[in-house]
Amino acid sequence: MAGGPDARDCRSIGDEAPGRRDLSWEPVIGLEVHVQMRTERKLFCGNRVVFGDEPNSHVCPVCLGLPGALPTTNPEAVELGIRTALALDCTVHLTSVWERKNYFYPDLPKGYQITQFEMPLATDGVVIYDGPEGEAMVRIRRAHMEEDAGKSIHDRIPRGTAVDLNRAGTPLVEIVTEPDLRSPADARAFLTTLKQILEYVDVSDCNMEEGSLRVDANVSLRPAGASELGAKTEIKNVNSFSGVERALEIEITRQVEVLDHSGTVDQETLLWDDHKGQLRSMRSKEDSHDYRYFPDPDLPPLVLTSGLVESAREDLPELPRSRRERFITDYGLSLYDAGVLTQTVASADYFEAVVKASTEPKSAANWVMGPVQALMNERREDSATFQVDAQALAELIELVADGTVSDTAAKKVLAAVAADGGSLRSVIEELGLAQVRDDSQLEEWIRAVIETHPDEVSRYREGEKRLLGFLVGEVMRCSSGTADPRLVNTILMKELI
Ligand code: ADP
Ligand code: MG
Repeated sequence: MAGGPDARDCRSIGDEAPGRRDLSWEPVIGLEVHVQMRTERKLFCGNRVVFGDEPNSHVCPVCLGLPGALPTTNPEAVELGIRTALALDCTVHLTSVWERKNYFYPDLPKGYQITQFEMPLATDGVVIYDGPEGEAMVRIRRAHMEEDAGKSIHDRIPRGTAVDLNRAGTPLVEIVTEPDLRSPADARAFLTTLKQILEYVDVSDCNMEEGSLRVDANVSLRPAGASELGAKTEIKNVNSFSGVERALEIEITRQVEVLDHSGTVDQETLLWDDHKGQLRSMRSKEDSHDYRYFPDPDLPPLVLTSGLVESAREDLPELPRSRRERFITDYGLSLYDAGVLTQTVASADYFEAVVKASTEPKSAANWVMGPVQALMNERREDSATFQVDAQALAELIELVADGTVSDTAAKKVLAAVAADGGSLRSVIEELGLAQVRDDSQLEEWIRAVIETHPDEVSRYREGEKRLLGFLVGEVMRCSSGTADPRLVNTILMKELI
């Protein structure tokens, strides 16, 4: 353990107050995130990247590693790699080098993985995110490109392991953070933002169930306030954010236990079992020299023009944080509302299209975040499939504003169009939801209510003014909700004088 118990709220190892123990250890966490690029083809050959197809149906001599087969770099993957690096505010290097990382594993037929080591695609980035204690920042040490391995499948053949090489050669970007995270919740908050950024720049489908985003979490403890790092363990291959958080909590608890009993944390690699919620030791930590990295003799260095990098920079869409800021300044939204609406590009685009068509940002925000979101959740849809497009929603908001339909009726219309399509006007007509504003009809309902509620009417006239609401409600009931409540109010007040 490094550092020494020299800091403020730190005690010496091995003494004390059991209840307060873990307060004296500060967790330090750094993440390595593997992101599968959304390319059509693999990184070094022409096979398609497909999830869930017949095993070993997308393989060729290159990704199988047959002798003499030569790789060529897929420019589409490189472009997505550059985009990823720029979105993380990294410096993209015009020359990076493909290297071989040598190890044996059944799902790696070549005996080495093509990756980048000494000279990665990009370094020195930064991600700003909302941490558990407010705005926080993580430095990105590097972002490099590499190929994925195949998959070992343990539940297909009894007492045997099957190997599917469809995934072998899929382009990945590995994002390595500095050890800047301080708790499992902090790590999760960062990952949530990272995923959001990757989705915004559209480099990956970020589908965690399919393994498009996989996290290795490194964690160590040090006496709170110390500046040196303690010995770390690495938790491999976690493919859910809740898994990362749980695994880190368990591992931190274990390390506290070890250090509290004056033990030392062994550098090791741990494997997370999501079903059992357990960590098990996989191997003692290997060092990079164990992999015998060397530049791949079959691949020239990856050389980019500054023009390519600059045009990728120009093509970068507005990122979530600045879009959120802009929603606050341009549309007068609260931080919370702006945050909800910019959670995905799709919802932000939908909201902005509604605003552009209706010009009333606050009610557009309320409708999109409220009834529209509720319906989308219920129907398992997003704005791409939702049948009420931005134009129609804007029109509906106008119809509520000018009193053509009530708020309640508008929600019914929204649900009906979301379910069966059709135009707003025809649905309003069909369901008889247009508000009645015809004076003689309104007066008829009002007189009926006055006649049937003599008691309330006289109490109102004697000064019990709050009964107005009740009487308006009765009129609304009489009209099956179709009366324009504002007009009912006005007319009723006159009649009751
Ligand atoms: P390794 O050589 O074991 O792969 P690196 O120094 O390359 O270790 O770092 C890998 C990851 O582990 C990075 O995300 C880094 O931030 C994190 N890391 C490094 N040292 C520590 C530590 N002492 N505690 C927690 N995380 C660490
Ligand atoms: Mg590592």
